[in-house]
Amino acid sequence: MTLVDTRTPDPKKFINGATGDWEMVLGLEVHAQITSESKLFSGSSTEFGQPPNQNVSFVDAAMPGMLPVINDECVRQAVRTGLGLKAKINKRSIFDRKNYFYPDQPPGYQISQYLDPIVGEGKVLLDMGEDGEVEIGIERLHVETDAGKLMHDQHPSMSFVDLNRAGVALMEIVSKPDLRSSDEAKAYINKLRTIMRYLGTCDGNMEQGSLRADINVSVRRPGGEFGTRCEIKNVNSVRFAGQAIEYEARRQIDILEDGGVVDQETRLFDPKTGETRSMRSKEDAQDYRYFPEPDLLPLEFDDAFVEEIKATLPELPDEKRHRFIEELGLTPYDASVLVADRTSADFYEKVADGRDGKLAANWVINELFGRLNKEGLDISTSPVSAEQLGGIVDLISKGDISGKIAKDLFEIVWTEGGDPATLVEERGMKQVTDTGAIEKMVDEIVAANPDQVAKAQDNPKLMGWFVGQVMKASQGKANPQAVNEILKSKLGL
Ligand code: ADP
Ligand code: MG
Repeated sequence: MTLVDTRTPDPKKFINGATGDWEMVLGLEVHAQITSESKLFSGSSTEFGQPPNQNVSFVDAAMPGMLPVINDECVRQAVRTGLGLKAKINKRSIFDRKNYFYPDQPPGYQISQYLDPIVGEGKVLLDMGEDGEVEIGIERLHVETDAGKLMHDQHPSMSFVDLNRAGVALMEIVSKPDLRSSDEAKAYINKLRTIMRYLGTCDGNMEQGSLRADINVSVRRPGGEFGTRCEIKNVNSVRFAGQAIEYEARRQIDILEDGGVVDQETRLFDPKTGETRSMRSKEDAQDYRYFPEPDLLPLEFDDAFVEEIKATLPELPDEKRHRFIEELGLTPYDASVLVADRTSADFYEKVADGRDGKLAANWVINELFGRLNKEGLDISTSPVSAEQLGGIVDLISKGDISGKIAKDLFEIVWTEGGDPATLVEERGMKQVTDTGAIEKMVDEIVAANPDQVAKAQDNPKLMGWFVGQVMKASQGKANPQAVNEILKSKLGL
């Protein structure tokens, strides 16, 4: 890979060292398990959580004479992902053998793609809040097989091997060295995950190992030459990625400031200590003896195949976010929150349908998400449906209930269920907009509190006390605007 610096150094991201400022440079290799029923080159199931060695065919176990047969759904998924990354789709790509021995990899090689991957250069946009949008280059995406798993905790003196994962299809997505902070790296992993979830090409489940990242970290003087990198292998949580990067950048800075040199090496992150430690150095870097896989033809397809897939792509998060801002009037921040997950975006669109988009967004983000978070629930198990929340928004828009009553109503719908409009009728929660009724309440309160009237006339800020009294008398149902106006005229303010 030829390294090109696409970023302008940003002092906010500099790391202070004893001898001056430093900047980190990060490039990620993300492994994403392709969502598919069966493995890349065999018909075995990919179902997670099966008993060990349940999903193993003769091909996966590398029995002599077994031949791989490409799963074309996996090819479609890779192309779909490439399109989602706005990347170049290569209509001819080649599978190679990457040779290395490991007990959980029976053939003694992994089938991968080396010089001719299925997907070439693309890009991913990150929304970095106040820092605006950042574009991260994608170098390539290739398809390869996963390995099995060794189990060292099943027996006192033996290790066991589970080949359920062996041969499962992975996409390796390689970024350009365009990331400059741990926050950007975390946003990048989240964004890739969001895009793939929208596309349905990877479930993004990091606990189950469906998404893991190798993180390349180097440091340099701001804007200077790229430094020597270390690669932190197999990080399986976004939080760990952030911790590993912060630790590793600081470690490298300390070495350089002490006059040392950073050795290019592969390191592991230990979540227990928050540190990275050396796994192997470049000296024993592996020679994989890549060569074209003789049991598979080059992978070739035509434009029609790509076009057919393109036609089935859903609206992607960036486009959706743009539409939410432009057409529904949302703030960039609210739009980002809503599109981060497709189910949330769909839910919001149902609530906003034919209604005030901003008001709908407030209710989805502040009330509903807030409450779901508190209860440890997510949108797919929300006790309040989009129809119900839409009903509450309607009542607010029509002036039938105030924002405050709406919160009480939300609480009732959350715990008891029911149709919001019916509940408001049945429980007499309708806002009093009848000025005659409000006037009557105001008159009574004014008459009963001559001292307060005098005080408020001296200091108009004290009118708030009267507002409170009227709201109390009306059990929160008086229209606040009407109350204010009537009070002002009655008190002569
Ligand atoms: P390899 O295949 O040997 O791991 P690549 O050149 O393909 O190496 O790069 C792998 C990853 O490392 C890419 O994501 C790339 O952006 C990143 N990378 C390359 N050079 C640097 C560097 N100096 N600092 C940080 N990341 C880097
Ligand atoms: Mg690498």
